[in-house]
Amino acid sequence: MVRISSKLLLVTLLCFGSVQSAVAKLNVFACEPEYKALMNELAPNAKVYSATTAMQDPHMIQARPSLIAKLRRADLLVCAGAELEVGWLPMLQMKAANSAVRNANTGLFFGTDHIETLDKLDKVDRSMGDVHAQGNPHIQFDPYRLLQVADALHQRLIKLDPEHQTEYQQNFANFKQRWTQAIKGWEKKAAPLKGKQVIAYHSTFRYLFNWLRIKQVGDLEPKPGLPPSSSHLASLLSLSNKEHVSAIVITSYQDSKGGQWLSKKTDIPFLQLPATVGADNTQDLFQLYDTVIVKLNGAIQ
Ligand SMILES: [Zn+2]
Repeated sequence: MVRISSKLLLVTLLCFGSVQSAVAKLNVFACEPEYKALMNELAPNAKVYSATTAMQDPHMIQARPSLIAKLRRADLLVCAGAELEVGWLPMLQMKAANSAVRNANTGLFFGTDHIETLDKLDKVDRSMGDVHAQGNPHIQFDPYRLLQVADALHQRLIKLDPEHQTEYQQNFANFKQRWTQAIKGWEKKAAPLKGKQVIAYHSTFRYLFNWLRIKQVGDLEPKPGLPPSSSHLASLLSLSNKEHVSAIVITSYQDSKGGQWLSKKTDIPFLQLPATVGADNTQDLFQLYDTVIVKLNGAIQ
């Protein structure tokens, strides 16, 4: 009898233990899918929600009630920062009233806080449009900066959830190894793209072009945040006649009309690249980079 009871007790304890760890799962609110994808690499057991999809412009979304409810329950908020989400995140944070995700040393993590951004501005005035004064926040296509962010993020996970320190360390080491290996492959495949010139929409691919040494000679936006006007498109048409432009590049959520018009007028290939994980059927960061490089190589000869 005694032996049976102790077995039962053990079973009960084990069940209770697994329920406990399920309840203690880290609840993460990511602003963009690339941060959700990074969390999936570093903490595959965490519960991660992304506020936006690859088909949404992360500069501007609605702070809808379902997002507020999600943020209210979060232990960790992971976003690009550098004011990318300034149009909606402060409002969301206010309405969610969750003090756990307000402190940049604990539950609030901005990727751009942990790297050097490109194109920081000293002076900003309204005539410049919706510029990113703290530097370009679209860092998802810089594999080296992303690795720095992953390093900082795994340290933050350890700080928030020290019990699983070894797991986070192993996950980061594993990611770092696979990512570093993948970078070599991508750089080899993208070598023919070096020195090519493109016209693109916004500074969405600033880090990608910087990494692969592609030059963006024109922007479909007359000013950041403004759609292409006909006079601006006319100036891009004359630019295309003077410069050798290899492709017109936009992303999943940007309006394709202006770029397609320019492409028809000039016979320059028009290319839509995924902005982040989820577009073009990409499931993770590795597939995202694979797809972008295959598409660039396909369009730019
Ligand atoms: Zn932007």
